[in-house]
Amino acid sequence: MDEQHLDGNGIAGLLGEIAAAEMTTVLRTCQSCGNRRAIGEHRAYHSAGVVLRCPACDDVALVIGVQEQQLVVAWYGTYEIGR
Ligand SMILES: [Zn+2]
Repeated sequence: MDEQHLDGNGIAGLLGEIAAAEMTTVLRTCQSCGNRRAIGEHRAYHSAGVVLRCPACDDVALVIGVQEQQLVVAWYGTYEIGR
């Protein structure tokens, strides 16, 4: 894989605005491989929007995009927010 990516910390500010929470330490359980990892460990890909991917299986964890002036956010898997 040679596509450039940041880790999940790179989009923490954006995620924090959406979820109104500190996101880097939020734990996500993957819907595909069951891995439980912090958002900060996920891979963030920037193209037309932002796609966050599981660090273990590379499946999609989160999609943020703008379509016709609407912010579209899709979450996959289970997120544990607030502790
Ligand atoms: Zn996974």
